[in-house]
Amino acid sequence: MIRIKGRPSVLVSRRAPDVTLIGGGASSVSIYFDNNATTRVDSEVVRAMLPFLTDQFGNPSSMHDVGAAAGAAMKRARQQLQALIGATFDHEIIFTSGGTESNNTAILSALEVMPGRTEIVTSAVEHPAVLALCGYLEKTRGIKVHRIPVDQHGRIDIDAYRTALTHHVAIVSIMWANNETGTIFPVVRLSEMAKKVGAIFHTDAVQAVGKLPIDLKSTAIDMLSLSGHKFHGPKGVGALFIRSGVPFHALFKGGHQQRDRRAGTENTPGIVGLGKAAELALECMDEENRRVRSLRDHLEKGLLARIPNTFVNGDLLARLPNTTNVSFEGIGGEAVQFLLNRKGIACSFGSACTSGSSLQSHVLEAMKIAPTAALGAVRFSFSRFNREEDVDQVLQVIPGIVKKLQDSFPAAVR
Ligand SMILES: *Cc1c(COP(=O)(O)O)cnc(C)c1O
Repeated sequence: MIRIKGRPSVLVSRRAPDVTLIGGGASSVSIYFDNNATTRVDSEVVRAMLPFLTDQFGNPSSMHDVGAAAGAAMKRARQQLQALIGATFDHEIIFTSGGTESNNTAILSALEVMPGRTEIVTSAVEHPAVLALCGYLEKTRGIKVHRIPVDQHGRIDIDAYRTALTHHVAIVSIMWANNETGTIFPVVRLSEMAKKVGAIFHTDAVQAVGKLPIDLKSTAIDMLSLSGHKFHGPKGVGALFIRSGVPFHALFKGGHQQRDRRAGTENTPGIVGLGKAAELALECMDEENRRVRSLRDHLEKGLLARIPNTFVNGDLLARLPNTTNVSFEGIGGEAVQFLLNRKGIACSFGSACTSGSSLQSHVLEAMKIAPTAALGAVRFSFSRFNREEDVDQVLQVIPGIVKKLQDSFPAAVR
């Protein structure tokens, strides 16, 4: 594997919509295909947030009009999220600092409210925001963690899942869609199975919200995590859905904000931005999904046609429309990503969370993808700001990059 020195530069999509909104503007021209790591904040979201960083600065807990305005904005944001995920009540949503906090809150809460139960069921391919916590609980609290395996397409082993479900399980935490491969899990069915043993069912839906239609009312899902920056909202703000009637234990000790469920003064500008991002996602989901899916498929077909020994990782039948995880056999995905970056194209290898280490992706490892292929995995993830020309640009430069890397490797590696 080629070792890369230094870090890639920060990239700005050239599809900057309305870059003059608050002065400045896009500095470097580049093409951004790393939307599962984070997305560009939509300019309408920025516009919605701005008053709450200026005139509408009130504390939503204050009893005067300045505070009330912030409180009303927060209520509106809750309703915008409620509509996006099909919650029955707006008070089923609490605002958090993002996906990581929501996941931690859900799991730790379940262990508190189900004191007789000491097991967690999760999958082998969860985000570190679930797996690292589970590993910690296993080590420090003697919690038994069942990490349900997946097959070579990333599909969950239903039989192993069924076997792990017993009355010892406090919480099941299974992601809705995988961030690395886009594989979608049948969480609606999984939640019904969990209900039969009385376990709380939580889903990390950070990659699903805004990309898949979600109607929580008609499911047995008890808790759901989402994060603003994965669907064109701001970073550092997210939410946890807690179904009405599901027992809950707050993570933080502090003030009485959010009905005692999440202490701390609310991030009102972020929350307003999250709400606006939810509204936009709901509005354009069908149309954007169709468009993004066709761009993704165009890129995928083009790569498979142009480059030999290339294949796609994940479940091609149940997959997010915006994600493709492609393996270039025998060459380093890290090196492909590095050279694409030099051409102004941003994508990622393995998962963004483990970049910097040359460790193989835990997701591809769980799928038993051969190491020579797993190390050559590159993820392209799309959003509403990608255009046809972006794909054409990648297809134009990538064969040269792959050839260059193959030539620089000893034949034994290939
Ligand atoms: C990004 C991501 C998270 C973490 O969300 P943050 O808001 O960045 O903390 C959790 N789970 C999945 C699947 C993600 O893609």
